[in-house]
Amino acid sequence: MKSTDAIRTCPMCEEGQLEPRMHTATIRHNGEPLVIEGMEYCECPVCGADPVLVDQISRNECRLADAKRSAMGMLTSDEIRLIRSMLGVTQREASELFGGGANSFSKYERGATLQSSAMDMLLKLLALRPDLLGLAGRLKGKSLEECYLQYDWSEVSSSVVAASIDMDVRRLPHQESVWSDAA
Ligand SMILES: [Zn+2]
Repeated sequence: MKSTDAIRTCPMCEEGQLEPRMHTATIRHNGEPLVIEGMEYCECPVCGADPVLVDQISRNECRLADAKRSAMGMLTSDEIRLIRSMLGVTQREASELFGGGANSFSKYERGATLQSSAMDMLLKLLALRPDLLGLAGRLKGKSLEECYLQYDWSEVSSSVVAASIDMDVRRLPHQESVWSDAA
């Protein structure tokens, strides 16, 4: 049970029983006003003190992070958790596989840290193509040449291969190995 749910005695007057309240905060984010609803605090009916309890602070942090993410078109805490669960990896496994530092996914999902735009894009891609998770694991720590060799090109439609050639990624080992020529 969350500590706010239990009745708390006011730390100021040590008499009143704190009552949970919510307010709407407006901050400036990237020069624009950002409205954050549901910011929690407590109020003492006896002395009027308005402390914010520890568990309220962590939930407020998450709301603040999610408001910033939404303003930037980035995944929210819940969406990151949802994608990670859909991929079937723990927070620790996700941090090891995708990076972002120790316990990065715990921090993203608590709203303690905002994910980078690169991480955001990777997670969105995997949300659309969860079947690529295994490939992501096989490519980690590999050189580009090894990545090409790891890839099962027979699974790829010819239009995708053609598109990757159009993008000037011409080193498809199944066609002509530039690396072996260079070696
Ligand atoms: Zn009080």
